[in-house]
Amino acid sequence: MNQTAKSIDDKLHLFSHGGTAGAVIRILPDASRSLNEMLPEDLQQTPDQNLKLAYTCCYLNHRDRNIMIDAGIDGDEVAASLSELGVAASDIELVCITHVDRDHVAGLLLQIGDGELTYSNAKYVLDAGLWDDLHKPETYDSLPKHLNRLFQRLKDLIEDRVILASGESAVAEGITFIPASGHRPGHAAYEFATDGTPVLHGGDAALHPLFFEHLEWPCIVDTDPVGAVESRRMLLERAKETGALVLGTHLPWPGISFYGAGAS
Ligand SMILES: [Zn+2]
Repeated sequence: MNQTAKSIDDKLHLFSHGGTAGAVIRILPDASRSLNEMLPEDLQQTPDQNLKLAYTCCYLNHRDRNIMIDAGIDGDEVAASLSELGVAASDIELVCITHVDRDHVAGLLLQIGDGELTYSNAKYVLDAGLWDDLHKPETYDSLPKHLNRLFQRLKDLIEDRVILASGESAVAEGITFIPASGHRPGHAAYEFATDGTPVLHGGDAALHPLFFEHLEWPCIVDTDPVGAVESRRMLLERAKETGALVLGTHLPWPGISFYGAGAS
């Protein structure tokens, strides 16, 4: 097999798959969530289960390019983790944004959203509709103050560096943007072609593997639970066809699963 993995501490998990090397970076301790709090009333389970959710972002060295998938909350801390790998934040060329929840994008700026860009030389891929929303005054009306400030600042700082995607499309050599909305509007997954089976990062498409196992379960934490079910179904089908190594931001640490060939 052309894949390896190892945890070098409880914050960094290294892996390599088909010529792509990567590291899952823990950004917060695991959180416990009640399954029933994520399910509609008619699907409440007895007994309830406590689900452990990890909080991560991901670094990839794909075709000799240094790439981040989301950026966590604390840019300084993630940059320190990258330097343990011998990668400077200024080496990151591309940041693939799955959606703009705070735990995914506050770390794009140093000082937990208050400072300059963490990845000063990068381009930033995101959904074109989501980018439009960030330019509509009404988007900001309902936001708490700290998010308002974060998004305004982020929008201004990356304005000249965005790669906007709408619909499934190649955003760089070997990297496919896959619309997978539902969890949030404009939520996206990314597929990285490798020598072997691809690496697929599903973002928050499934917050826990149980939602891949029970594809009929809507998750009421998602903005559009029905759309999110469709996105999960699509991603799972795709992973089964391609045999992808699947990553997910909140899947149990280190957030890596096989749903394709050899999956259980
Ligand atoms: Zn998340």
